[in-house]
Amino acid sequence: MKTGFRGNKQALPSKPCRVCGRPMSWRRKWARNWDAVAVCSDACRQRARATPRP
Ligand SMILES: [Zn+2]
Repeated sequence: MKTGFRGNKQALPSKPCRVCGRPMSWRRKWARNWDAVAVCSDACRQRARATPRP
């Protein structure tokens, strides 16, 4: 049984969270501001705001 679908999960971009360093995969809600996304969660965002940039 053949399918024409080509898995493209590997094509999704990902980058490490600036706060916890864990890799975060692309999410649809980040489509518009993926470049601006630096943290993986609200908790990390709060930590990022509490910690000055290097
Ligand atoms: Zn994080």
